[in-house]
Amino acid sequence: MITAVVGANWGDEGKGKITDMLAEQADIIVRFQGGANAGHTIVNNYGKFALHTLPSGVFYDHTTSIIGNGVALNIPVLFKEIKSIVDQGVPMPKILVSDRAQMVMSYHILLDTYEEARLAGKSFGSTKSGIAPFYSDKYAKIGFQVSELFDEESLKEKVVRVCEQKNVILEHLYHKPLLKPEELLAELHEYKEMVAPYVCDTSAYLWNAIQEGKNILLEGQLGSLKDPDHGIYPMVTSSSTLAAYGAIGAGVPPYEIKKIVTVVKAYSSAVGAGAFVSEIFGEEADELRRRGGDGGEFGATTGRPRRMGWFDCVATRYGCRIQGTTDVAFTVLDVLGYLDEIPVCVGYELDGKEIKDFPTTTVLEKCKPIIEVLPGWKCDIRGIRTYEELPENCRKYVEFIEKQIGFPITMVSNGPGRNDIIYR
Ligand code: GDP
Repeated sequence: MITAVVGANWGDEGKGKITDMLAEQADIIVRFQGGANAGHTIVNNYGKFALHTLPSGVFYDHTTSIIGNGVALNIPVLFKEIKSIVDQGVPMPKILVSDRAQMVMSYHILLDTYEEARLAGKSFGSTKSGIAPFYSDKYAKIGFQVSELFDEESLKEKVVRVCEQKNVILEHLYHKPLLKPEELLAELHEYKEMVAPYVCDTSAYLWNAIQEGKNILLEGQLGSLKDPDHGIYPMVTSSSTLAAYGAIGAGVPPYEIKKIVTVVKAYSSAVGAGAFVSEIFGEEADELRRRGGDGGEFGATTGRPRRMGWFDCVATRYGCRIQGTTDVAFTVLDVLGYLDEIPVCVGYELDGKEIKDFPTTTVLEKCKPIIEVLPGWKCDIRGIRTYEELPENCRKYVEFIEKQIGFPITMVSNGPGRNDIIYR
């Protein structure tokens, strides 16, 4: 059976924690999209980790971790990450890399950095990990697939072609040093050496695993609102963040994805630019940011302070719907224990009228939040293991949100650790 773990919001919902937790019962964990531009923070018996490329199941020795074909594979980052977890005492994980995954090249990172500088104030808030140039090249059909590393003749020819094209942009748009085909080829040779032992046809591997009845997890990066089609375009990421894309990015039959666990955070946070209707500012935001997540809401990759806001029912209902949610995992609820009252965004005001459906970006930018205030529970709920033991106002908050979003909250996360979970 396949379960997808995906986000309903802008990312950072706690997918890593939920995947790490569900991975205990899984055989295989697959990353199917995105690259090293976002991170998952995981707290377990080995310590605290920020993963960018490795699936969040690498901490168990019974699991196999797969880098699917849909991922933007940064080979040096992957190997650095493997080394860093092994150095911290985690057993060497079993890793397979899709022969159809494409590689982030050093020039993708340069182009990303140059473009952000060129756009200056109008930038997309890129993490400069090369993700947008990488996916542009993939769809322009000038990307490098892992399988191509093993055909020296065509590789030699292709580096020349790619340099010609990139050098026009480097020279005339960015006024930067040009690429040299021999340097590019050397970079590819280095990647080949590193990745060769792990490469295989991962979709065939997964097909066989499905026939054998294995438990497979697909781990998404970011969330619905960062999807290039259904999110807040153009302030989105460059690969689909939806469970449906899991079928493509892992190479598995769509009908095998039986469960879609959508991770929803008890309040909002976002990184990068873009409309954020329930955003809060000043001391109110600083306090939530300071108390949020596990040690504050700062980017796992960049350390950037995240933008903060109250729970947004409109965005989350949409985010859950577009994922095809079967189960909601409601996370970081413990963080809200300090508040006397908890504001929730229950609708958007647009030209004096209330709307309940999440609109396209141009309209979204004109929306104002309609806030309803719920009573707080004013205590620490960490350590509680059954739903009934939660304070009444806390249960009321969960049930209010569940009704608003219209999807069942089957898990409530009340701390960053593996065991901080309440099943309903
Ligand atoms: P992801 O990208 O969706 O995996 O999210 P991140 O890892 O970027 O952000 C989630 C943060 O919240 C991490 O620091 C987690 O350790 C932390 N976290 C996850 N679940 C909970 C929870 O229920 N309570 C608290 N306090 N922190 C949590």
